[in-house]
Amino acid sequence: MGVAPYHLASTLSLVIAQRLLRTLCNRCKKPVKLSSRALIQEGFSQGQLDNLQLFAPVGCDHCLAGYKGRLGIYETVPITEAISRAIINGENSIQIAELASKAGFNNLRQ
Ligand SMILES: [Zn+2]
Repeated sequence: MGVAPYHLASTLSLVIAQRLLRTLCNRCKKPVKLSSRALIQEGFSQGQLDNLQLFAPVGCDHCLAGYKGRLGIYETVPITEAISRAIINGENSIQIAELASKAGFNNLRQ
């Protein structure tokens, strides 16, 4: 963007990413079972699988193809001292994302 890294590091305090998800219709969604292996491959931890109930879209007179409404999800990353240093050092987005993860911030997928 043509902005010097030290300007970014000194002025940036928080980065937010947002996505809108389609939500399932509560009137017609149906429970589904997926294999633990498939869920772990998609990023779930073993501990998350214990009480996990997943649903699939069906479709009814009250929705559009099983979906009704939207839900916003957000990834927020406060600029820590380590992330600020990474920006100044010109590290790439993958390296900065790793620092955010180590600091305990969840990404959008999580
Ligand atoms: Zn429906």
